[in-house]
Amino acid sequence: MSATLLDGKAFSAKVRARVADHVSTLKSEHDIIPGLAVVLVGEDPASQVYVRSKNRQTVEAGMNSYEHKLDASASQDELLALIAQLNADPAVHGILVQLPLPDHIDSNMVINAISPAKDVDGFTIANAGLLFTGQKSMVPCTPLGCLMLLRDHHGSLAGLNAVVLGRSNIVGKPMAQLLLGDSCTVTIAHSKTKDLAEVCRSADILVAAVGRREMVPGDWVKPGASVIDVGINRIDAGDGKTRLVGDCDFASCSEVAGAITPVPGGVGPMTIACLLANTITACCRANGVPEPE
Ligand code: NDP
Repeated sequence: MSATLLDGKAFSAKVRARVADHVSTLKSEHDIIPGLAVVLVGEDPASQVYVRSKNRQTVEAGMNSYEHKLDASASQDELLALIAQLNADPAVHGILVQLPLPDHIDSNMVINAISPAKDVDGFTIANAGLLFTGQKSMVPCTPLGCLMLLRDHHGSLAGLNAVVLGRSNIVGKPMAQLLLGDSCTVTIAHSKTKDLAEVCRSADILVAAVGRREMVPGDWVKPGASVIDVGINRIDAGDGKTRLVGDCDFASCSEVAGAITPVPGGVGPMTIACLLANTITACCRANGVPEPE
């Protein structure tokens, strides 16, 4: 391997330490404890793991964590009533509804019921619109984490060619918008893109958010490029065990890239760290206190 490893685990620990510092200051100087409410509907095993981890890290950072578990059969109206209650609760500064929601619930309607000021996932139309128009918003956590890693490695991203593989509302589109905001020349690629390999080879920054195991081989990577692998794919590792791999073939990509995130230990840990950081930001804005840089 010749690429520099972009160590999200180590970087996220620094972000969480900064968050914990802000929490102490908010407590000691303003008598405020930031609070994050996480809503989980149903029993999806992966979602349960994520929610547990979010709650644990919220508490470890010194914040209040409010967990709301609803049965898989909960109605949309019940969920909307809970969100209205959390919107009105001054102790709750951030609200996160764990996706995916059961099929009988309209996810868009539920997400957009969250007050934009408490929308720490940045998924409401209001926050997406603010990001799109270059205004102060709540930025989706995964793309924000990717941007932090890239800024840390490159300093300025201005003028670099960035290719974002994937156009979902939660990763691909906001990622492209953030890179544009940092003055990259951005291409968004997807399942209908022609000559994907050639498009990827034009990238100084390649962000893969596809959800297909090891789809990007090393010969799609421009020598020296930075590769950010957002993908989380669980595969059979034999012996009845499983392991996680990304959307990029790490072995071959890391021979060509200048820098690369591992899976696990790259983008994943940054996502929760950014969720905590967004909760602090929301708390500061709600209380008219200067927000973290
Ligand atoms: P989606 O399924 O919503 O989007 C996948 C995107 O990839 C779509 O835009 C799709 O194109 C595109 N795509 C699919 N197949 C191909 C292909 N063969 N060639 C080119 N493009 C393709 O996924 P998400 O954005 O939600 O997530 C992407 C990955 O990131 C997943 O592995 C997910 O687990 C992971 N993830 C990781 C997070 C983290 O914290 N690290 C957080 C969130 C997600 P089209 O639109 O044309 O269908």
